[in-house]
Amino acid sequence: MEKFETFTYPLDGNLYINLTSKCTNECTFCVRNEKSDYFGHKLWLAREPSAAEVLERIPADISCYREYVFCGFGEPTVRLNVLLQIARELKRRGATTRLNTNGQANLIHRRDVTGELAGAVDKINVSLNESNAADYAALCRPAFGEAAFDALQDFARRCAERGIDTWFSVVDLIGAEKIEQCRKIADSCGVPLKVRPMIGSK
Ligand code: SF4
Repeated sequence: MEKFETFTYPLDGNLYINLTSKCTNECTFCVRNEKSDYFGHKLWLAREPSAAEVLERIPADISCYREYVFCGFGEPTVRLNVLLQIARELKRRGATTRLNTNGQANLIHRRDVTGELAGAVDKINVSLNESNAADYAALCRPAFGEAAFDALQDFARRCAERGIDTWFSVVDLIGAEKIEQCRKIADSCGVPLKVRPMIGSK
């Protein structure tokens, strides 16, 4: 697989920040399984960028982009410290920041990191993907096994409680019955559920 240094890429009026190619999931549907690019952007990284290298690629006029989104061919919270450094600087410059995540940051770092995200990240989209732990494990193949499903719910709940605009996403392919179950999970966590067509890696 050819690799690149696509640390940022524009899409739909937002600037996406691609921090890593590592992920704690191995989703069966992940776009990176089939493609080396996403809407023409080559996202497999030859190496991981420093915060300074990403910030060099942020425009002086921060209003050029609607949102600055941590999302690429890996799980952004794997690189939590770099993510926070960039997000804090973006906030200082007046940007709106969003994180697209598998919701496993507290498992990855073995502590509650939601307090660090609050104040740096305005919006968090947690991929729920499934309606129960066994099906989630089969679909997303998490390194943490079925425990990942409860953990991502707890993560989303805590983010929302800290005042971050947080929501779950699922793809419509799972069907109406499962979407209804996902809606109940989202309600119990105090976050909305967004149902989207199956494109993208998050
Ligand atoms: S879809 Fe997202 S969470 Fe799943 S393997 Fe790909 S990058 Fe990781």
